[in-house]
Amino acid sequence: MLPAVGADERALAEAVRDFARGLEPRIDSAEAEGRLPADVIRELGRLGVLGMTVPEADGGLGASGVAFALVLEELAAVWGSLAVAVSVNGGIAEGSLVRRGSAEQKREWLPRLMDGSGLGAFALTEPGSGSDAARLRSTAARDGDGWVLNGRKMFVTNLRYAPVVIVLARVGPLDEERPHEGITAFLVPADAGGVTIAAAERKMGLHASDTSALVLEDVRVGAAAVLGPLGKGFGAVAMAGLDGGRIGIAAQAVGIARGALERAGAYALQRRQFGRPIADFQMVRFALARARAEVDAARLLTLRAAWLRDAGRPFTREASEAKLFATEMAQRAARTAVQTMGGYGYMRESAVERFARDARATTIYEGTSEVQRLVIARQLLAA
Ligand SMILES: Cc1cc2nc3c(=O)[nH]c(=O)nc-3n(C[C@H](O)[C@H](O)[C@H](O)COP(=O)(O)OP(=O)(O)OC[C@H]3O[C@@H](n4cnc5c(N)ncnc54)[C@H](O)[C@@H]3O)c2cc1C
Repeated sequence: MLPAVGADERALAEAVRDFARGLEPRIDSAEAEGRLPADVIRELGRLGVLGMTVPEADGGLGASGVAFALVLEELAAVWGSLAVAVSVNGGIAEGSLVRRGSAEQKREWLPRLMDGSGLGAFALTEPGSGSDAARLRSTAARDGDGWVLNGRKMFVTNLRYAPVVIVLARVGPLDEERPHEGITAFLVPADAGGVTIAAAERKMGLHASDTSALVLEDVRVGAAAVLGPLGKGFGAVAMAGLDGGRIGIAAQAVGIARGALERAGAYALQRRQFGRPIADFQMVRFALARARAEVDAARLLTLRAAWLRDAGRPFTREASEAKLFATEMAQRAARTAVQTMGGYGYMRESAVERFARDARATTIYEGTSEVQRLVIARQLLAA
């Protein structure tokens, strides 16, 4: 089966490619500053990229998941930090609102995630629960009609830019046998009393992407803050959202790998050693050829998962396969790119050094490679 990519989808991706390339001169300073420029986020909103997959009826472009994957690849081929910000905003944040939000919740929050004034965030991970996300300890207790939330969330992407955070918290006591029971998603406004955003994490890569901890101390929200089914948010919001989000991270990894290899290929053509371009040496050519084949394979897996999702078909295993293969592939491709560029590839002034650091996070967030293998094996070996 070949995932179909239509003319509109290609045109959108090409427009984003041009936009992303125009940002290149600004990347180093934004990475050093540790934030995405506000005007870049606003411009992505104006271009419609931030509401790409939101249905037209809700004010978005109504584009397909295939188109979104192509756009994320283009962003990541230039700037990984920007790609993950857009992926989390459009994938798990807006995606959860579109799938599970009431008409009122969509009206209140979607415009603010699409117009470029901010970016959505999703808070599942806690100090004591990462891969074993169902063991989360944040609580939501009844308070009249509404709820009082307490807890601490870790590593929340886009937190500093978010007008609203999707927070997963437990309603009622933890059942050791069924830890996912009772987990509920809440829409928590970032300016609600009792919400504290801790200092941004200092990371190996993705320096301009915000990753911060969220502290909830007696945060009061109304009954209308519940997103999706009460007590069933783990499957209905978190896991369903991550299925889609993983396609975005796979696309990000494809873009990072492609971007690194494009730069390494250009360098190999102009760098001369032993009296000829290093691109003439078979070992260099073969390394780039192998990496290029893997990029294409990863893209096909990614587009297949996106296409299945667009078609309303099951795609959990395919999304995990895409994320596993694409993100592990990006490690190899980034290494090949650095190696091809020799000492220059190791230096801060070369973009491939940044690509190699940024690629590293992709095998960790939205489920580690080990967790993707668990998901794939669970489906493969289901009796
Ligand atoms: C840059 C960045 C951004 C992030 N953004 C967000 C965000 O926006 N929202 C959010 O909620 N979280 C976010 N995260 C958190 C991320 O999803 C977690 O880091 C990830 O799920 C792994 O959890 P952990 O770090 O607690 O590692 P752990 O779960 O402690 O895992 C440690 C190691 O043990 C392995 N392991 C764990 N369980 C098993 C098992 N059963 N079998 C085999 N191996 C296993 C893991 O694969 C890993 O190698 C982000 C993380 C990073 C690095």
